[in-house]
Amino acid sequence: MTKILLGAHMSIAGGVHMSIERGCSIRCTAVQMFVKNNMQWFARPLAREEIRAFLHHRERKELLSIFAHSSYLINLAATNPQFHANSMRALAEELTRANQLELPFLVMHPGAHLGAGEEAGLTKIANSIDAVFEVIPDVKTKIALETTAGQGSCLGDRFEHLEHIFANVREPERLCVCLDTAHVFAAGYDISSEAGTRKMFREFDRVIGLERLAAIHINDSKTARGSRVDRHEHIGKGKIGLGAFRFIMRDKRLRKIPKVLETPKEKNLAEDIANLKTLRDLL
Ligand SMILES: [Zn+2]
Ligand SMILES: [Zn+2]
Repeated sequence: MTKILLGAHMSIAGGVHMSIERGCSIRCTAVQMFVKNNMQWFARPLAREEIRAFLHHRERKELLSIFAHSSYLINLAATNPQFHANSMRALAEELTRANQLELPFLVMHPGAHLGAGEEAGLTKIANSIDAVFEVIPDVKTKIALETTAGQGSCLGDRFEHLEHIFANVREPERLCVCLDTAHVFAAGYDISSEAGTRKMFREFDRVIGLERLAAIHINDSKTARGSRVDRHEHIGKGKIGLGAFRFIMRDKRLRKIPKVLETPKEKNLAEDIANLKTLRDLL
């Protein structure tokens, strides 16, 4: 039986290698991390020693999966030219950093159209992805488009949006997908039961293709189904209920997909420990 790929988003405070340190301290086998301060546009390049400390970290092999999440500032559908230019440059730089750390993919929210309309927004995102990939031809790190709650004008709340991007980029093989349980629920997909969750994955497979699924953000939702409001809650304490999480933990096809928590926590990671136990108990 293969080992379960389960963990949480971990802070890089103190250096990028600290995400490994923190993940391993609570026996994670999967970790998500930022590759720089996520509230800033740009950062100085990673120093050679920082990269080495990360790649040769002695506990790194205990993590079966480690991947990145991009800054929340990036919006490839931005209508302001300066904001859009910053987004493109920041994405190229983050992909380069993730590649230096040998991370397989960088999770990114597709973008918000800010009134330009869905179709125009999706086209702009696909064209922007093409332009970013063009300047970094040797970067192997993929972009994992994340399903969103559809808050405001955010795109990605329908699987069709992601499929549209795949269909319109020049190099779809450099893209994959990250599914967030709290987001799909807030976006309106009914995963309040095991049967509903199976149906949602069937829909995901039909529209996007399960082979494109690279990661799952395993979060409960503080907000109701269809609310389009993105608020994460501890597993079993929110509106989704345990059925979805039981399905995800037990489904054989999802066994090889890393699952990470993005739920609120204190420095001592006590909440992560409790949530991971709740999830393992569903196995
Ligand atoms: Zn995200
Ligand atoms: Zn997420």
